[in-house]
Amino acid sequence: MVLLRRLFQAFFLVLFLYLFFATTYPVKNAVSAELFFHISPLAAFVTFIQKPTAHSVYPGLLVLALTLILGRFFCGWICPMGTLLDGTHRLLFRRIDNGRGESHTRGQHVKYYLLAALTAAVLLGLSPVYFFEPFSIVFRTLTFCLFPVLFSLVAPLSQKLPWISQSLLSPAPKVFFEGTFLFFLIFVAIMALEAFTRRKWCRVLCPMGALLGVFSRVALLRKHVSDSCTDCGLCARKCRTGAIFPANRDIMPSECIECMDCEALCPSKAISFRMGKPQPLFGPVVKWILRKDRPHEPGALMALSRRDFFLSLAGGCAFALMGKTEYGYAMASSRLIRPPGALPEAEFVARCIRCGACLKVCVTNGLQPSLFEGGLAGLWSPRLVPLRGFCEENCNLCTSLCPVGALRPVDVKDKKREILGQARIDRSKCIAWNQDAKCLVCDEYCSYDAVFQKELEGKPRPFVDPALCVGCGQCEHRCPTGPDPAIVVYRKGMAVKDIREK
Ligand code: SF4
Repeated sequence: MVLLRRLFQAFFLVLFLYLFFATTYPVKNAVSAELFFHISPLAAFVTFIQKPTAHSVYPGLLVLALTLILGRFFCGWICPMGTLLDGTHRLLFRRIDNGRGESHTRGQHVKYYLLAALTAAVLLGLSPVYFFEPFSIVFRTLTFCLFPVLFSLVAPLSQKLPWISQSLLSPAPKVFFEGTFLFFLIFVAIMALEAFTRRKWCRVLCPMGALLGVFSRVALLRKHVSDSCTDCGLCARKCRTGAIFPANRDIMPSECIECMDCEALCPSKAISFRMGKPQPLFGPVVKWILRKDRPHEPGALMALSRRDFFLSLAGGCAFALMGKTEYGYAMASSRLIRPPGALPEAEFVARCIRCGACLKVCVTNGLQPSLFEGGLAGLWSPRLVPLRGFCEENCNLCTSLCPVGALRPVDVKDKKREILGQARIDRSKCIAWNQDAKCLVCDEYCSYDAVFQKELEGKPRPFVDPALCVGCGQCEHRCPTGPDPAIVVYRKGMAVKDIREK
C-alpha cells in the first residue's frame, strides 16, 4: 500500500507540473492547470459559500463527499503540497531527530481556528483564503519563481530547439513578476518547517487539511488494531501527522491522512485499514457545543477550545470588515486595471484565490500581482501593468482559465469589446503636444483606432476617443517618453474629471 501511495503521489505531482507547463498560449490541451483548482476542496468550499450555483464547485465537493468515506486520503495521496513536503523531508531533514517523536500537540488545533476565521471572512464577503490554499501556494511559487528562471535559461535554446519554446515558453519576450522574492521566501519557509516535525504545515496551518479533517471525523475507512499489538508505540512515534494516541492505540480520524505507514511499520502486523461502521455525525458536535463529553486528547478535533473557536470567528469577521473600510477596496489606485472578464471589483477580490494561473499565461507578461494598488483587500490579486505588457487584442487565455470564476470566460470576439480602463494623454509630457515633435506612436499602435490625430495650429496632435478606447494599454506600453509615459491607462469607471488632462 505504501508503494501504491507513493506512486499516486508521484503521478499527481507530475500531472500538476505537466499541467502547469502545458497551460500556455495557445491552449492546445483539453485540460489545463485549472483542473487541480477545481478539485481543491477548499476552493470549492469557499466558492460554494459565495456562489452555491457555480458548476466549478462540483469536483471539489465530490472530494469532500469521498472524504466522508475514505478520510483524508486527499492529503496523503493527491495533494502536491503534501508530496513536496514529504519529498523535502526525505531529501533534507530525514536525519534530523528532534527527540520529541512525532506525537500530536495542541498546536494542531490552529488549522481549525484558521479555517473558522477564513469561513467567517468569506461569509462577510472577503476571502483571505489565498494565503493558505496549498494549490495556490505551489502554483504561485512555480509561476513567480521557477517559471521566470526556466524561461531565461531556455529562451536562448529556442532557436535550435523549437519544441522547447512551444512547450515551455510564453510568447512574452521576457518573463518577470513583481514580488518574486517574497513568494519564494513563503514557500521556503513552509518547506523548512519540515525541520521541526514531518508535515508541520499539514498538522498546524493548512486550512484545507482542517476542512478535510472535519469531514473525515466520521470516515468509514479506519485503522484497526488486532490483539497481536505489543504496545511498542512505534506507530504513534512515526506517524507523520501525529494522528495516533500512544496511550490507547486509537487514531484521530481528523488527523490521519491514510498514508498507511503505520500498517507497513508495525513489527507485529497488528494494524490494518478497513471499512468500519458509520460514525455519529451531529451528536458529538452538539455535545461539544453543550460542553459535555469533551475529550482531553490535545490534538482531537472535538477537544477544540470553544473560546478560541469563537475568537477565531470574531477575528475573521474583523478582518473582513477592515477590508471593506477605506483601507480595503476604497484605497484602490486609479491605476488598478483588472484583467478582461473580471467580476465587479468587490466580487472579484472576494472570489480570486490568487493562484496566479492568469498571470502565468499572460502572453505579454503584463499581468502582475498587486501589492496595495487594490487596497488591503486586493493584495496579490492580478492587475494589468501596461508598462510591462499590454492586453493582447486576440488573446482571451486568462479568462478561460480562472478556476473560481473571478474572471468570466469571454470569447475573443467579446473580449475585444471588454473595457479594462481608459487611456488619457498628459499633454505636458507628450512630445507631440509640448515639443511639436513628430511622434504619434500611440496612434500608430492602437489596434482599436481609439487614438487619432487632429491638426491644431498646423501641427498633428494625438487625441483619445473614449468611445473606442478599451484600455488595453498598448499606447502606454509603446509611448517613447520616459521615464513616465505621456499616455496612461486609468481604472475603469474613473470619473474623467479625476484624470489629469490639461
Ligand atoms: S494538509 Fe493541506 S497541504 Fe497537507 S496534504 Fe492536506 S491539503 Fe495538502
